[in-house]
Amino acid sequence: MAKYIFVTGGVTSSLGKGIIAASLAKLLQSRGLKVTIQKFDPYINVDPGTLNPYEHGECYVTDDGAETDLDLGHYERFLNTPTSQANNVTTGRIYQTVINKERQGDYLGKTVQVVPHITDEIKRRMMLLGDSNKFDIVITELGGTVGDIESLPFVEAVRQIQWELPEEDCLIVHLTLIPYLKAAKELKTKPTQHSVRLLSQEGVHPNVIVCRTEHPLNDEIKRKIALFCNVKPNAVIEAIDANTIYEVPLKMLDEGLDVIVLKKLQINGYSAPELGKWRTFLDKLSSPKNKVTVGLIGKYVELQDAYKSILEAFIHAGAINDCKVQVVNIHSEFLTKDNVNEKLKDLDALLVAPGFGARGVEGKIEAVKYARENMLPFFGICLGMQMAVIEYARNVMGWGKAHSTEMDVSTSHPVIALMEEQKKVKNKGGTMRLGAYECTIEKGSLANQIYQSNSISERHRHRWEFNNNYLNDFINAGLIPSGKNPSNNLVEIVELKNHPFFIGVQYHPELKSTVENPHPLFVHFIKAAKLFSEKRANAAVNKTQKETA
Ligand code: GLN
Repeated sequence: MAKYIFVTGGVTSSLGKGIIAASLAKLLQSRGLKVTIQKFDPYINVDPGTLNPYEHGECYVTDDGAETDLDLGHYERFLNTPTSQANNVTTGRIYQTVINKERQGDYLGKTVQVVPHITDEIKRRMMLLGDSNKFDIVITELGGTVGDIESLPFVEAVRQIQWELPEEDCLIVHLTLIPYLKAAKELKTKPTQHSVRLLSQEGVHPNVIVCRTEHPLNDEIKRKIALFCNVKPNAVIEAIDANTIYEVPLKMLDEGLDVIVLKKLQINGYSAPELGKWRTFLDKLSSPKNKVTVGLIGKYVELQDAYKSILEAFIHAGAINDCKVQVVNIHSEFLTKDNVNEKLKDLDALLVAPGFGARGVEGKIEAVKYARENMLPFFGICLGMQMAVIEYARNVMGWGKAHSTEMDVSTSHPVIALMEEQKKVKNKGGTMRLGAYECTIEKGSLANQIYQSNSISERHRHRWEFNNNYLNDFINAGLIPSGKNPSNNLVEIVELKNHPFFIGVQYHPELKSTVENPHPLFVHFIKAAKLFSEKRANAAVNKTQKETA
């Protein structure tokens, strides 16, 4: 039988509920338990797939093709285990299920109401992963902040679950903020007291209070929070700001979060935490021996969450290379033929980001051209790969008007075209080519060397593809399609010979990079950036030596 932990948030959003949930999960996993995390989001979209990155950050995609909240990325990066469709549920999905059932006549004769019908469906989904017998512990993060109108049915569902389950099978962790008032030089507990009271009014009483704070909490403050929030002082956990999210599990270990949870859930016989790999990663991360500067060329660069998984994959790949990866955000919309040299001249590598629509694509194409011509390591992901194909067609093959039909339906050379099965698609939600597909890699290619395998599986999210009508033209002109889907020949990887690192992939490798398993493409990309930076440094030394001789 699985045990259930619910993580709620109070006072404000952005306190890092996802990171606290993932850190607790990591600690429990490190003690030998099988743990999964799921997120319940109160918004009405059926999933975040139709949301603009400005609204909701990156859309994370699972192996089984769910378009999900970016917190699922954290869960996977921390736990090193895949999530699935069942791990992210929204109000929209709950209502959709209930309304479909109503139309089918499942509630015939009855009035369908928030309580019990919506709350029952929430409860069913909250218990689903636990019912699968695959996990000892299911952690559920509730999106939003306690007191929000739309999160009420979720809190009510948690209340009922807590009432139904044996006491030792369910636990509530409440994450809250302890603000510091500079003028008074004091940490304030009142917002926390209010938020716990609000939660209690809704019938749920937290067992553990995790306090996000910029300053350490002394015993007196912890006692005060404990007293007024009706928990024992050892159930008040300090979550002080960390240098990196990856430090949080160790901070929670020091605070004893996992031990208090294990005690309350009456789990005995757990082992000492096995965090060797995690600590090695953190050691490397905190003491890099080199530094590389990588350009991230995208159109949402002002919003860091839009490229969350890419940025995290750089961190994983940097650590294993003993190298700090400094990411320079370059807005593709403002990158032109005239300024490209100036804007990219100090980079050791560049990555052209995924994306949709026409805005900023010409800048992306300029960036690819610069990388190709200057032997600068290049990595194109999804739209980035498509831009590499277009750049090659235009500037090497001489098809000046080549384009993707996503941006120019009447182009003379549609080298990127809408996939056949996408032509009949009318609805926008959940209809892209989504999730994991197999890819066969050509022997002897760079991709083959990097993956050390000729068959891989990677995750996708796209509608357009490399147009195979031009396959031979590209091969003859020197662009190598080194990875293909074995069942339909869709080109998944392109690369160039006579270039130190030039790879474009139709899939999203960033979604599979974890702390314990950094993605090989990112690892080798950073390695190539290191080489480029060393070469540049040597060339500069030679130049000064010549000048002084
Ligand atoms: N817009 C492109 C497509 O749909 C690329 C998508 C992406 O970068 N995720 O094919």
